Amino acid sequence: MSLNELYREVILDHYRAPRHHDHLDSPDGSAEGKNPLCGDEVTVEIKVAGDTIVDIAAIGVGCSISQASASMMTEAVAGKSREEVAELVRKFKVMMSIEDSAEPVVDPDRPGASLGDLEALQGVRKFPVRIKCADLPWITLTQALEQ
Ligand code: ZN
Repeated sequence: MSLNELYREVILDHYRAPRHHDHLDSPDGSAEGKNPLCGDEVTVEIKVAGDTIVDIAAIGVGCSISQASASMMTEAVAGKSREEVAELVRKFKVMMSIEDSAEPVVDPDRPGASLGDLEALQGVRKFPVRIKCADLPWITLTQALEQ
């Protein structure tokens, strides 16, 4: 299986069986995001205790890229501190903004540098119009965190 095929499988798996896809009881923050170019919609809800995002939900409709990105994001963010989430958002933006770079986006020798399943979204960079789909849940998360 090529890397591209592997990435496609990961994206389709999250699209078909999205994680953290049920509304939270009394969330501490929530935001709705829309990508009119593609018709994607996502609602992000978070539950915060102290400095930690203890629970998160992302519920939406739209293309496989937007919904898979939302599902992967929930897995990556749950249980992390605000600071760790900010770092994750930064890394994701860097990854999505480097076009066909030969350089590795994340340093595999640095512990905790891996974006895990999210790295499957790197292929989307070849289709600039779809980058907005991948970014949508992350922009919405940032809005939910600001509440
Ligand atoms: Zn889309």
